[in-house]
Amino acid sequence: ADGARVPVLVIGTGYGGSVAALRLAQAGVDVHMVEMGMAWDTPGPDGKIFCNTREPDYRSYWLRTRTKAPLNYFLGLPIDRDIPRHTGILDAEEFGGITVYQGRGVGGGSLVNGGMAVTPRRENFGAVLPSVNADEMYGVYYPRANAELGVGVVDPAWFDSTACYQYARVGRKHAQRSGFPFVFVPDVYDWDYMEREAAGTVTRSALAGEILYGNNHGKRSLQQTYLARARATGRVAISPLHRVTSVAPAAGGRYTVVIEQIGTTGAVTAVKNVTADRVFFAAGSVGTSKLLVRLKATGALPGLNGEVGRGWGDNGNVMCGRANHMWDPTGALQSAIPCCGIDNWAAGGAFAEVAPLPTGIETYASFYLSITNNPNRAQFSWNASAGKVELNWQAAWKQASITMAKTIFDKINSREGTIYRTDLFGVYKIWGDHLTYHPLGGAVLNRATDNYGRLTAYPGLYVIDGALIPGNTTVNPFVTITALAERNIEKIIATDL
Ligand code: FAD
Repeated sequence: ADGARVPVLVIGTGYGGSVAALRLAQAGVDVHMVEMGMAWDTPGPDGKIFCNTREPDYRSYWLRTRTKAPLNYFLGLPIDRDIPRHTGILDAEEFGGITVYQGRGVGGGSLVNGGMAVTPRRENFGAVLPSVNADEMYGVYYPRANAELGVGVVDPAWFDSTACYQYARVGRKHAQRSGFPFVFVPDVYDWDYMEREAAGTVTRSALAGEILYGNNHGKRSLQQTYLARARATGRVAISPLHRVTSVAPAAGGRYTVVIEQIGTTGAVTAVKNVTADRVFFAAGSVGTSKLLVRLKATGALPGLNGEVGRGWGDNGNVMCGRANHMWDPTGALQSAIPCCGIDNWAAGGAFAEVAPLPTGIETYASFYLSITNNPNRAQFSWNASAGKVELNWQAAWKQASITMAKTIFDKINSREGTIYRTDLFGVYKIWGDHLTYHPLGGAVLNRATDNYGRLTAYPGLYVIDGALIPGNTTVNPFVTITALAERNIEKIIATDL
């Protein structure tokens, strides 16, 4: 409520925010979480909370009047459609050179993502978070994060026989015939549930094209894990459809937080001022960076250091499809949850996930999301005349990612006698190089903050999300975001409270 005073206010309910809320509450601290997206706990007129990828409706996108599907063409035809403007679940946020996809709602990215829960290879960790003790991370915090998130791996015997992973077995065969290491990718999806989906004994989710706009069953989002346990402490309150617009010092070492309440069309319905002893920025890489850069430039937090807004990367995301021969069908039924990848990081700087094309029809296509070692880093800055934060990522910087992804797919195409699909991202366009699912950085650990996420110029202000990670995790990022948050909050609770 307007005028309230809280011990801890957490901005955002994604991985970083959920870890902070649970651990602080367990330490006996009352926490208030503020989330700009919806609660996603109430079914729509069709009885479902979330819509699927084949019929995106008002629930699909954050305040857009037309869908902006990551895979926006099929057979060279645009597939986007008009939708009512609504506080939907997936934000396709457009900057000059890149579209950044993000989850909106209680649970953040865990609502929309593929659930792929990958711990980086230990030998790569020094490049991911150079100032963090790897022994502690691999001995304590990665195992803790994996256990709390409910990470598991597909049963290899079932994988070998189920129709819904025909596409992944084709991916494996082609990878292995070209001599690439093939790996199973762990996921937070309930694998027993998926087996029952395939057996026809439960309502389908992954097998009904659900991903991107939410899963009605099967996926362990943060709503089922960290946030459920945080709520069970009785010390955590969550305000959905509330957006933080300002944080500034107040009397007594506290902070005044300005919060806009919004309706489902995006209109502001109320503005509230809350006083907090401590504030955790957990609005995601983009959300946290935009807030900090604007608050520094406009005088609310002028003491933030010059590293704020820097070190942003796209985790080297790039997508492509391959056209298979008629004797390599990938299956009309495809699980929307990927379960395997091709690891060519050491030799070629690319880790490619074998991704589904859950169209419901046979496409003879293999589809991949590659994470690459793209070295480019962008900066957020405040454009005073436009009144907004901009990101200086250049579209041409994706060429580095394409070159690395080609170390895998040029070889496979040459071995198999196949070609790239040119109809998935436009008319004769091979590479999905206009987007990222994995924004990272903007308030990098040990640069914009101290080595535990403290914004040291302002005691009681912390960053605890993907903004801390300097642009790349070598694999999908949320396990690393979670494990780093576990490490940092343990230190903060022990020394600051
Ligand atoms: P987020 O999870 O983004 O949470 C931030 C929250 O803060 C959001 O809920 C947002 O609405 C809220 N917020 C922002 N600004 C404000 C504000 N001013 N006031 C109030 N609230 C605010 N990663 C993987 O590891 N594996 C995958 O399989 C995977 N697949 C993905 C698929 C898609 C389509 C997408 C979009 C992402 C995927 N990711 C995946 C990435 C992963 O989801 C993110 O890295 C992760 O969610 C980031 O966690 P976070 O805690 O930094 O922030």
